Amino acid sequence: MKNPLEKYEVVIGLEVHAQLLTKSKMFSEAPNQFGANPNEMIGPVCSGQPGSLPIINQTAIDLGVRAGVALHCKIHEESVFARKHYFYPDLPKGYQISQYERPYCTGGYVEFALKDGSVRKINLVRIHFEEDAGKSTHASHGTLVDLNRAGVPLIEIVSEPEMRSSEEAGQYLRKLRSILRYANICDGNMEQGNFRCDANVSIRLHGAKEFGTRVELKNINSFRYVEKAIDYEVSRQADALEQGEKIRQETRGWNAVKGVTEIMREKEMAHDYRYFPDPDLPPLVISPQLIQKITTEMPELPDAKRIRFIEEYQLSEYNADVLTNSQELADFYERVAKGSGNAKSAANWVMNELLGRLNAVGKEIDDTPVSAENLALLVKNVDSDKISGKIAKTVFDEMFASGKSPDAIIAEKGLVQISDPAALEAVVKKIIEASPSEVAGYKSGKTKLLGFFVGQVMKETKGQANPGLVNDLVKKHLDG
Ligand code: ADP
Ligand code: MG
Repeated sequence: MKNPLEKYEVVIGLEVHAQLLTKSKMFSEAPNQFGANPNEMIGPVCSGQPGSLPIINQTAIDLGVRAGVALHCKIHEESVFARKHYFYPDLPKGYQISQYERPYCTGGYVEFALKDGSVRKINLVRIHFEEDAGKSTHASHGTLVDLNRAGVPLIEIVSEPEMRSSEEAGQYLRKLRSILRYANICDGNMEQGNFRCDANVSIRLHGAKEFGTRVELKNINSFRYVEKAIDYEVSRQADALEQGEKIRQETRGWNAVKGVTEIMREKEMAHDYRYFPDPDLPPLVISPQLIQKITTEMPELPDAKRIRFIEEYQLSEYNADVLTNSQELADFYERVAKGSGNAKSAANWVMNELLGRLNAVGKEIDDTPVSAENLALLVKNVDSDKISGKIAKTVFDEMFASGKSPDAIIAEKGLVQISDPAALEAVVKKIIEASPSEVAGYKSGKTKLLGFFVGQVMKETKGQANPGLVNDLVKKHLDG
């Protein structure tokens, strides 16, 4: 179908698994550490040895509560761990410990801005604790099992089916990841699988009351792929409906090479898992005092920072959203804004020039070759007319390439803006003398030719002339 969005409305609900930044696992003292050799980071509990018993990791609980507070949830004083059964080689116990009927958090929301500046608020159904499973690798001689990840503490954050486009899903995920990183709950590393997303996608006719049948897209490891997978899935479902087919409730995976979603399995139902409360674990108790303590210790989160940036620096909603995406980026921006005394220009440089270039070379703000101090200095140099805005771009390129200070580059390359009227007047006169036909044209009323003269002077001075001054001088000589 050409444009399925004309006929159908998209409905998306996201389930996110975030790995908690603990030293040890959810129910044992085995280390929670990435990158070790297979099965080095395990103990009897991870491998489900007979007689081993789980013990709740309090740090994991504290981090989970921190997430509940940061996401405005209702945190329950009592919740229950449940066994979720399935049969798989990487799950030696035969079940995963999760929470089912009584999760520790319900409600809450995530707020984010879209490109058009509008703000969306997506409600959460719940957050629950869960232990991760191990990893199976299917080799030619059999299945290899690595249990290093087994028992790693996770929270699963489940949204209401309230998102209506792939852009909203992408922005929701970016904001959620950003909040979890600000509050030091999860490192958000998607390549390592520490922040993973399942996207539930359905479509329905515009105006329809009932939701359509959903398809679950599993474990997609980048924001861009989530957006692409959703877009693909929407067209696929629309095409199917147009041909009179029914959508089957199934689990699909994203094939990044082919750019398509592919069926993995029919969707399992809750009763397939035979959930029941884990008899080895007491109900989880979270005291109001703990919630109070964690609330008091919470750092400034992206939403509060965004609002402060809008007020303090007069930024647009969208720019403030982008610049508060990570603590590191927000700090960097604030240093440039304060150092230069020009918050608006600082925002432009950071967003349009610096982030664009970092993106192009696949780097994060932590690896920027341009320091905040040097960028502030560059903004100051433009504001004080030491260099023109155009030359500033050239200087910035050099700063990005070499990490040098703008002043060093300006001195080395002799890029200081020419603002000496006598020096410029000589160039203006020369250009006017060399262009008799344009002068005649201008005098006969083609005042647009002013731009031609200014352009010639700029060219002659390699872009270093002060453009305002050139404009005045050209006018003076032509009109006078
Ligand atoms: P399960 O646990 O079986 O995956 P849930 O009812 O908990 O099922 O829902 C999981 C996710 O699916 C939630 O994020 C929810 O918002 C979303 N969801 C439910 N129904 C739909 C639908 N028709 N279209 C899109 N998303 C949906
Ligand atoms: Mg699910």
